[in-house]
Amino acid sequence: MNLTVIGYWGGYPKKNAASSGYLLEHKEFKLLIDCGSGVLAKLQNVIQPEELDAVILSHYHPDHNADIGVLQHARLIQGFLGKEQPTLPVYGHTFDQPEFGKLTYKTITKGIAYNPDVPLTVGPFKISFLKTNHPVPCYAMRIEADGKTLVYTADSSFKEEFIEFSRQADVLLCECNFYGNQNGKSAGHMNSIEAGQFAQKAEVKQLILTHLPHYGNLEELMTEASGQFSGIIKLADEFLAISL
Ligand code: ZN
Repeated sequence: MNLTVIGYWGGYPKKNAASSGYLLEHKEFKLLIDCGSGVLAKLQNVIQPEELDAVILSHYHPDHNADIGVLQHARLIQGFLGKEQPTLPVYGHTFDQPEFGKLTYKTITKGIAYNPDVPLTVGPFKISFLKTNHPVPCYAMRIEADGKTLVYTADSSFKEEFIEFSRQADVLLCECNFYGNQNGKSAGHMNSIEAGQFAQKAEVKQLILTHLPHYGNLEELMTEASGQFSGIIKLADEFLAISL
């Protein structure tokens, strides 16, 4: 599996940047995980929108889903220009019907409900879900293919169930929207110390901190998390590429 960070800012995209979006590729299959504001512009540095095989969304907050509409336009217009492409499946939960309804657009994209209680197969990936602690329904994903595992927390404050869910993952893509001296619980987010402790307890190989705050010195997030976690740790960055 190859993971490429397309956007990683929490809440909104920083100037000339993108909020949550991650491209996961395996055996030629291209899955976009979350499609927040700024993602469509940044994605085109890596692949073209018409090359995507599927999209999956953790939840319906604009920093995770705002660019679905422009992704639909991109594929529509490329279709007019002669690039034939199949209907793009966009997987989402159905606990917000108006938002789920927006995932289907003409024959360009089709919203497909995932049942968080049942593992989902998308191309070469097996995806299982864990409901997170967040102000709206949101699902973390454990994505497995050919013996490798990526866990994406999506947005959440820390919850104990994360540890078993993430056990021995090759990569834990963990949200870290707060510094160690801040409490993100009421906002439904984790801080750097919680991310580090979580990674250590779950015995993951590599921790990537993402969904980053717009203030402070981001390197401090790394320092704080690495005080808790003995494995490899990185800050998400534009086009950061990780092979699993
Ligand atoms: Zn959110």
